[in-house]
Amino acid sequence: MPLWYHTPMTTPQIHDEDEIIANCIFCKIIRNEIPSVKLYEDDETLAFLDIQPNTRGHALVIPKSHHENIYVLPLETTARLAMSVQKIAVALKNALELDGLNIVMNNESAAGQIIWHAHMHIIPRMNEDAGYLGQKYTYVAGEMEEIAEKIKLEL
Ligand code: AMP
Ligand code: ZN
Repeated sequence: MPLWYHTPMTTPQIHDEDEIIANCIFCKIIRNEIPSVKLYEDDETLAFLDIQPNTRGHALVIPKSHHENIYVLPLETTARLAMSVQKIAVALKNALELDGLNIVMNNESAAGQIIWHAHMHIIPRMNEDAGYLGQKYTYVAGEMEEIAEKIKLEL
């Protein structure tokens, strides 16, 4: 019997696209399988509040199609994502009377990417933040929904 005969032929297909999409947290949010506080939705993109925000109103904008990160995003999807990011950024600025905001995209583990569905962070900033972005903000009950309503009024 040749040695290669013992090579398992049923190696788990960890790159099976259907399985990745079925298990992806952000795809589950898109499919309403897990709850989220949504801000905006169109045919290509979705924006919702981050559940572990750096600052009050920290939002995520994602494409509705599953792509890991910036390297593999189709150009059209990147363009639509950027359009939604701008829309949400302006609404956040007005709704929460921000002094500023950061737009961040983490690509790969080395850059802090935890969720492997491309997304852009919009992180509200106030003058008193003094440049430091390592902080975490904790919402009180109902605050996320209240903020979301304010933002939606500006869209
Ligand atoms: P990243 O490090 O760029 O991959 O960021 C992933 C972000 O997704 C983190 O800021 C998490 O707090 C956020 N996140 C993870 N799960 C959820 C969820 N179910 N709803 C909202 N935000 C989430
Ligand atoms: Zn996904």
